[in-house]
Amino acid sequence: MPKVVIVSNRLPVKVSFENDTYNLSASEGGLATGLGSVYKQGDNVWIGWPGLEVTDEDHQTDITEKLKELSLQPVFLTQDEITKYYEGFSNDVLWPVFHYYASTYAHYHQSNWECYQTVNQKFCDAVLAVIKPGDTIWIHDYQLMLLPKLIRDVQPDISIGFFLHIPFPSHEMFRLIPWRADLLEGLLGADLIGFHTFDYVRHFISSVTRLLPLQASANVITFGERSIVAEAFPMGIDENKFAQMPLKAAVKKEVEFITDTFHNQKLILSVDRLDYSKGILQRILAFETLLDHHPELIGKVTLYMIVVPSRDQVPQYRELRDHIDKRVGNINGRYRTIDWSPIQYFYRPFPIETLSALYSMADVCLVNPIRDGMNLVSKEYVASRINNDGVLILSEMAGSSKELIDAIIVNPNNVQEIARAIITAINMPLAEQRRRMAQMRSVVAKFNITHWVKLFIDRLTEVKQMQRSMQTRHVSNGTRQSIINRFAKTQKRIIFLDYDGTLVDFKPVVDQAKPDSDLYDLIDHLTADPANEVVIISGRKHENLEEWFGDKPVNMIAEHGAWSKLQGKHWHRLSGLSNSWKQEIYPFIETYVDRTPGTFIEEKTYSLVWHYRKAQSGLGELRAGELMNTLKYIVSDKGLQLLPGNKVVEVKNMEINKGRAALALTEGKDYDFIIALGDDYTDEDIFRSLPESAITIKVGSNVSAAKFYMRNPAEVRDMLWALTEASNVKTE
Ligand code: UDP
Repeated sequence: MPKVVIVSNRLPVKVSFENDTYNLSASEGGLATGLGSVYKQGDNVWIGWPGLEVTDEDHQTDITEKLKELSLQPVFLTQDEITKYYEGFSNDVLWPVFHYYASTYAHYHQSNWECYQTVNQKFCDAVLAVIKPGDTIWIHDYQLMLLPKLIRDVQPDISIGFFLHIPFPSHEMFRLIPWRADLLEGLLGADLIGFHTFDYVRHFISSVTRLLPLQASANVITFGERSIVAEAFPMGIDENKFAQMPLKAAVKKEVEFITDTFHNQKLILSVDRLDYSKGILQRILAFETLLDHHPELIGKVTLYMIVVPSRDQVPQYRELRDHIDKRVGNINGRYRTIDWSPIQYFYRPFPIETLSALYSMADVCLVNPIRDGMNLVSKEYVASRINNDGVLILSEMAGSSKELIDAIIVNPNNVQEIARAIITAINMPLAEQRRRMAQMRSVVAKFNITHWVKLFIDRLTEVKQMQRSMQTRHVSNGTRQSIINRFAKTQKRIIFLDYDGTLVDFKPVVDQAKPDSDLYDLIDHLTADPANEVVIISGRKHENLEEWFGDKPVNMIAEHGAWSKLQGKHWHRLSGLSNSWKQEIYPFIETYVDRTPGTFIEEKTYSLVWHYRKAQSGLGELRAGELMNTLKYIVSDKGLQLLPGNKVVEVKNMEINKGRAALALTEGKDYDFIIALGDDYTDEDIFRSLPESAITIKVGSNVSAAKFYMRNPAEVRDMLWALTEASNVKTE
């Protein structure tokens, strides 16, 4: 029975050491609850660090056994590893860079990077020890970005999902990291890579396509053999738990107590871990601004601010804590009255009952991170509002702002705006509060943590199936051999070969893609067999093909079918076609050449081509889209066709069609072997027009009307050479 293995830096468990024995208790975070439905089943397991250093081997065995009962398996880390891999690299490089704090907080030390690699390998060894082919692995978060590739290198067919719980930054930020390519390649070991928002997906794909020599089509990245999907899966919370909590007696009691304490006051709640990304200082400043400008609110509004201690041994965090202490002290000193303090500040964790009580009774929840991958507090507040009242003020930089669109959305750097939002929130009519909160509650209820887990796992299964179906269409050994066998048994064959992208790779300069001597040899061998009829069928100009293949015994079709030359005959131009439209279309394309450096127009007899291969990455595609939009309406009533190609946009007469040209060559002839290979949009016409018995092969992608696909010109040539050997055998 295949199993699912969850891997994360930290195991969902608290381990404490008392009286020479270790005590374990499950931690109850939302993620652990959601994943509970996965890792607690059958042989499934969750692998991770138990959260403290254990050096004694007997203790390690003891902990391992105790964890096993909880379906958990430990990876033990030394203090040095924790310092370098966890603190030094994960938290001092990845965390700040991914939260856009590269210049202030990131420290790039080679030894920390090396330790990050070592520890990822340690996790890999632990995973490899338990998995078998057919299993599924789901890796979590930024501490383990190299792990997908490490596992993939050993288990090439295994199913691997990765989810990043923090933001993925813009390519401009990500590329600052010295080891950026290794990190991306590490992630690309996964089949499905999940992020909280679509923006993070976009950033990731643009980093991959700019920093690595890889292509993506929409959200699918082609990496060697595999298609990898990057997608947004906004993580949810255990909504039911937060909706049920306020009904519990213990929580009701807390509510009563807090209500008594803060009667006649508007209570503004904030809950964060101590971190520079959370906007805590900005919040204090906004609250101070509010009191400065609205003295009538003095004594009437309280900021109830919970900060959960985190990493406060690290100087930057200690500094932040000191700053908070100081600013809170200042404001309270300035505004405090005998029975009121503007800020109730707590620097400690709270039990869930108290949190729930605060969530369910605070008039306003103020969530203003400068960057936050998702932000669960905002969702927990919403889920706790079982009467549909209360107002959420939410930073647009929190991932959750993409879903909780009925919150008051603020820019966390705009202190004035936050102060205004507080005024709006405390004066918001109940009906309006309810309208907004009901909407948000339904979002939080539907997209809960269980739903999130299911969506991710289902999608991972789909991606794997897609890869498998691609594999079956790929011309691999079996298919290749049967094509060769069929070839060997036949006597009258026709072989259609597209040129660019099929016989030769694309080159930055159009004229660089000249045939090389291996290609000429190949053509000579193919044409040496009298049973073979070879057709070079290309979008290139006929002058081009003539120069390259004019002295070879081949048929040529140029300009997608506008020109043709049968073996031993002259070039023939398709008659009855007009090209007067070119005068009108040319100026449109010319404006794009003027606006986009590195682009040019190629003029053919019946078509105009805008080439943008050398334009700035991304800009060319953008302009191509614009150009297509501009021309779309103009071409349709002129009998023209727009063709988006590989770094080109081509406008041509509709009547010209490679499919028709190919058909004309096969009609009435009783070929017993027809094969066509092509990589382009225009080659689809050939694939569709040929008889059912024809072997059609798309090069470079598997999205096609062709029956099979091959990855690149090297594979194409390899098979064609194999065919020539098969015919040699026959002719000998
Ligand atoms: N939380 C907690 N104890 C507290 C206060 C908060 O466990 O005293 C929890 C809170 O319920 C939430 C999490 O800490 O689930 C914070 O998650 P969030 O996504 O908002 O921020 P993160 O700390 O993950 O950046």
